[in-house]
Amino acid sequence: MAREEPWNYSRQAPDIVKARSIPDMHAHTRWCNHAHNNTEDIIATFLSGVDCHITEHAPLPSDFLKGRGKMPFAYDIRGMNREEMGSWIRMCNMQKEQVEGFAREASSMPCGIELDYLQGYARDIKQVADSIDSVLRKNGSRLNHIGLVVHNISGVPLFNRHAMAYLLSEVSAHDVIRNYFESQRRGIEEMEGYCDFMCHPGIIHYLINRAGAKMMEDEHLSGTYIRAYKDFVDFTASKDICLEINTSGLERDFLHCPREEWHLHPDRPHPHMPYEILKYAIKRGVRFTVGSDWHNPGEGQRYFDQVHDVLKQLGVKEVYKIVNREKVAVGIS
Ligand SMILES: [Zn+2]
Ligand SMILES: [Zn+2]
Repeated sequence: MAREEPWNYSRQAPDIVKARSIPDMHAHTRWCNHAHNNTEDIIATFLSGVDCHITEHAPLPSDFLKGRGKMPFAYDIRGMNREEMGSWIRMCNMQKEQVEGFAREASSMPCGIELDYLQGYARDIKQVADSIDSVLRKNGSRLNHIGLVVHNISGVPLFNRHAMAYLLSEVSAHDVIRNYFESQRRGIEEMEGYCDFMCHPGIIHYLINRAGAKMMEDEHLSGTYIRAYKDFVDFTASKDICLEINTSGLERDFLHCPREEWHLHPDRPHPHMPYEILKYAIKRGVRFTVGSDWHNPGEGQRYFDQVHDVLKQLGVKEVYKIVNREKVAVGIS
């Protein structure tokens, strides 16, 4: 099924601010069923000299999906349809063929995946990534990067409000927080070699808050959150992965969060990685990618100027981008 018009090289790259020197490692396209960007727009932007990368939601393993019907809520699939994966790969390859000779890095295209870690399914998930990579390779390309992500714990999709409310009726918010960070940690351990960066670590505070638990105002809950987050940062410090500073958090409704130490800037909402954690992670030597997690045109590199200034203030000299599954330092100018 063709979702997009055939790529036309005369097409202009969309107008995206070229924000200082920070690559955007996280964009979505129509192929994931809940975003509105065209693949071609992102690639055209990349070729126009803006470092932006597609990190598309990979399909969930079919064995995992088979068990979802038993849950007391509708299971919304946030990923490419498995049947369409081939078309997406062909699309990436077609782009590559058309732009050969134009690409700034001829051997790399900015196509990667956001790969869901699901407890108990590590083997199946690796197979999904391998199959995408092998088809790309047959066509002279390869998977550029993998961002690992936790969107589910105990089979419950955390981004579904009803499912989240269900989960919070079954277990305490403290346990949800601890299980979430534990799942991120296990993901990194079990998916070794399949994780260049962790996507939006810590987003659980947004999801819990959205489900009505108001954890920002609750001393105990936010204490559990910060402790679990710091433990997770300690764990990642010794691993060969980057943590993503995901600027979609700055779009959300955390402006009135009472925790001053979480905000980058008093007039703005705070990010998924609270300022307090960001400073801690820098001290522990953690490496970062930055991603706007854009799903709609116009969201590329959102708030990158702000992140740029904060990182500079904190003495960070470089962030990372991924090129052919290798971490490449990019100096912050
Ligand atoms: Zn998404
Ligand atoms: Zn994403």
